[in-house]
Amino acid sequence: MESQKKFTPTFSFELFPPQSEQGIENLRLTRKKLVRLNPKYFSVTFGAGGSTREHTLETVLEMQSEGYVVAPHISCIGSTKQKIHAILEKYQEAGIQQLVALRGDMPSGMARAGEFRYASELVAYIREAFGQIFHIEVAAYPEYHPQARSAQADLENFKRKIDAGADSAITQYFYNADAYFHFIDSCESMGISVPVVPGIMPINKFSQLVRFSDTCGAEIPRWIRKKLEGFGDDSASIHAFGLDVVTEMCERLLKEGAPGLHFYTMNRANLTSRIWSRLGI
Ligand code: FAD
Repeated sequence: MESQKKFTPTFSFELFPPQSEQGIENLRLTRKKLVRLNPKYFSVTFGAGGSTREHTLETVLEMQSEGYVVAPHISCIGSTKQKIHAILEKYQEAGIQQLVALRGDMPSGMARAGEFRYASELVAYIREAFGQIFHIEVAAYPEYHPQARSAQADLENFKRKIDAGADSAITQYFYNADAYFHFIDSCESMGISVPVVPGIMPINKFSQLVRFSDTCGAEIPRWIRKKLEGFGDDSASIHAFGLDVVTEMCERLLKEGAPGLHFYTMNRANLTSRIWSRLGI
């Protein structure tokens, strides 16, 4: 963990672009509440394909015009250099300085991978076409990406993204701090020394969390799963237990040198704000 201790901690919030008028209004309220907590930046996710991409652009440009510091996510699967270039030009014109560069997942119904196969190729392309204009974040997987051939192959692929020019990383969420510390030690032994900020998912709905975790390969430890299962539909107990578990994990991460926290807010201010205030950030 030594390499991580030299960085000033960065606290940030992730939002997703809403699809409906109601969602847009909710997000405006949410970000007004969250900005009072003084995060370093907000990131906005990117849907792979179709109109959701437009929603990212709209949300990012609206937030940027309101004075928020925004880091758009951009994913390359199924896309072309021309399309990626056009989006990045818009961000450059708007004064965006930070991106989260991803491969993304192939949407159902889309058959071809496009001009980029992996996020490392996207990072290399952004550096080639835009130089150092953007600070580039990439994704990291302390419990390893579900499609990786092996843990070692995934680490080597993570290193490819850093070698291609990424400045820092945000992890997939996890509930097992040891996985993060072990991942960082492995990175250090491979000469990777960029900040790797833990991604934090507050616990809201059990069924939703199980669905997400099964898809993205994040493990819900058995003792947490069993406790949550036992609460049934009692959301107050789920939230109270989730707040304890997640806050304790964040405390440990920060105490042992994590270079900040990135909250997957799911466009809700409440749980993230409560963890934030318990941590005294
Ligand atoms: P990559 O780094 O390209 O890795 C994907 C897989 O390919 C891994 O298994 C890796 O080991 C393997 N691989 C990489 N390079 C090679 C190579 N050269 N040869 C062989 N195998 C290789 N998804 C979205 O659609 N929109 C978002 O906004 C979004 N935001 C995210 C934010 C964060 C912080 C995280 C952690 C994930 C996010 N995702 C998002 C999900 C992400 O797109 C998926 O996890 C996706 O499956 C992988 O994207 P990646 O950028 O990590 O891919």
